[in-house]
Amino acid sequence: MNHCLICGQTGNPMIRIYDDNGQLHIGTEPEPDMKTVSVCQNSACLMKVKKAHILEKVFQRKIPYSFYQSMLSNLTEPSDSRSGLLGLGVRSRKVVPGFTAVEIAARRNQLSLIILDEGAKPTLQKRIQGICGKYRIPLTTYRGDKSMDTVVGKINCKCAGVKDPGLANILSRQFADRGSEKRTS
Ligand SMILES: [Zn+2]
Repeated sequence: MNHCLICGQTGNPMIRIYDDNGQLHIGTEPEPDMKTVSVCQNSACLMKVKKAHILEKVFQRKIPYSFYQSMLSNLTEPSDSRSGLLGLGVRSRKVVPGFTAVEIAARRNQLSLIILDEGAKPTLQKRIQGICGKYRIPLTTYRGDKSMDTVVGKINCKCAGVKDPGLANILSRQFADRGSEKRTS
């Protein structure tokens, strides 16, 4: 199959997921003798693969979370500078992604800023606001061209904690700017 399983296009760079004797692999070239699924190398199509459980249906088995993580790490999209900085922060461990990591780091007084996705559910918003109040950590809203989980490389991630004070400063200013840009446009 050479078209994207999600959007049906053929022209985009693709990643291929194929079944090699019961083991799933990720590559960029089709494997002629193996059952192969092609998906565009962009966040929109890759996220839909996970959300609609496409791989489970095609390969008829449970797909571990870690497999989706490595699928996402194959993204090639250029990121805008703000979300790029956030992704870089995660890779250099200056930013911790996800509620559990945020909660632990907050309790240890390690956070200079918490970033909450604008699409976060009200229950998560409340819990994060609670943590910010309790540990006196500033809160900012994530706004980016790409969803937060794509940027930080953790599926369904809606919040992140910034440990580095300098990076926290830059990010909070940048996301605040972004908010006013949106309002005036
Ligand atoms: Zn596609």
